[in-house]
Amino acid sequence: MKVLIINCGSSSLKYQLIDSETEAVLAKGLCERIGIDGRLVYQKAGLDKEITEAPMPTHTEAIQMVLDALKNEKTGAIASLEEIDAIGHRVVHGGEKFASSAKVDDAMIAALEECSDLAPLHNPANLIGIRVCQELMPNVPMVGVFDTAFHQTMPEEAYLYPLPIEYYEQFGIRKYGFHGTSHSFVSKETAKFLGLDPENSKIIVCHLGNGASVSAVKNGKCVDTSMGLTPLAGLAMGTRCGDIDPSIVDFLGKKLDLDAAAVTQILNKKSGVFGLSRGLSSDFRDLAAAAESGNHDAAVALDVFAYRVKTTIGAYAAAMDGVDAIAFTAGIGENSAEVRTSILDGLTFLGIKIDEEKNKLRGENMKISTEDSAVSVCVIPTNEELAICRDTVAILG
Ligand code: AMP
Repeated sequence: MKVLIINCGSSSLKYQLIDSETEAVLAKGLCERIGIDGRLVYQKAGLDKEITEAPMPTHTEAIQMVLDALKNEKTGAIASLEEIDAIGHRVVHGGEKFASSAKVDDAMIAALEECSDLAPLHNPANLIGIRVCQELMPNVPMVGVFDTAFHQTMPEEAYLYPLPIEYYEQFGIRKYGFHGTSHSFVSKETAKFLGLDPENSKIIVCHLGNGASVSAVKNGKCVDTSMGLTPLAGLAMGTRCGDIDPSIVDFLGKKLDLDAAAVTQILNKKSGVFGLSRGLSSDFRDLAAAAESGNHDAAVALDVFAYRVKTTIGAYAAAMDGVDAIAFTAGIGENSAEVRTSILDGLTFLGIKIDEEKNKLRGENMKISTEDSAVSVCVIPTNEELAICRDTVAILG
């Protein structure tokens, strides 16, 4: 099957066309600045990137341009749209309605509209992507793959906040967790790579990118994760604060004469390692270089980041009464040996021993712990598009 993967944001859209039999990416790219001016990046496998500046007033024009590029006579990856057998959509929030991926139908669209208030920046854009594909390719079956679905197996003690229970019942306020497609993919790949029995294993996945989260996966099921009602909770991130004392919202609002929404904007966009480094950067490469040349703020930002990941790993080892494997993934987790070292330094009480030479290597799936380490530590590149493709094929049979 040829599966088109669509990840639709409010002003951007990422896509990949994947052959599900070989799992090869036939073409990929993104549309940027939708509704502003418009820019299409398209790359057929084996060829250079093509960039086209063209007006994209809405997502309809953007997706139409992607389809035109895919079937372009010279650089297209398919001869006609008939070759697209299915579409897999990334959907950020499935609320409590979706514990797994599901075929797109009217009931799903209604359910997504219902939980849009839980992800006001993301779900409406995801819905637009679904609607435009329905309009342009009415006969192609579609599947929704939710960022929250993998975490729906969390037990009550992990997902309930200690708030009046009515707020959970009335408004759905609870921990949902995000990056679920990545946590699911990486935990499965980790079990496969290490030869662990997925039904009898305790794996901690550290998805460390610009957004970052950790999950505890026991016997193949998520039992806890660090993000919450929204992706603002948990670890310190590129620009998000992660867990802080909730009283800070009111306290800071009074100090700065801002309402809660404006303070929340600061917590989302100006905090994390960006805020700690005095606005130097949210990119870990910049922070590492600055710390190396003596910038104290950058060094502290990196320490705060690593400390949060470390203590979350400790908490999740407790949640599962042990841990067999820790997997690092996403931009920072896959690429920064220094960040991995500083996270793992101090986890010797778990019997973790790192092979520093292996930790410096780059590549595909890698084990970076020593043979006598009590916990296997590895680097497992995530691939959310492939995970969406696999789910789409599995759902459509
Ligand atoms: P992601 O959100 O998974 O795409 O990750 C993006 C982040 O990964 C960037 O903001 C960088 O902070 C980080 N990153 C990418 N490459 C490296 C690298 N070689 N060393 C350290 N951090 C990196």
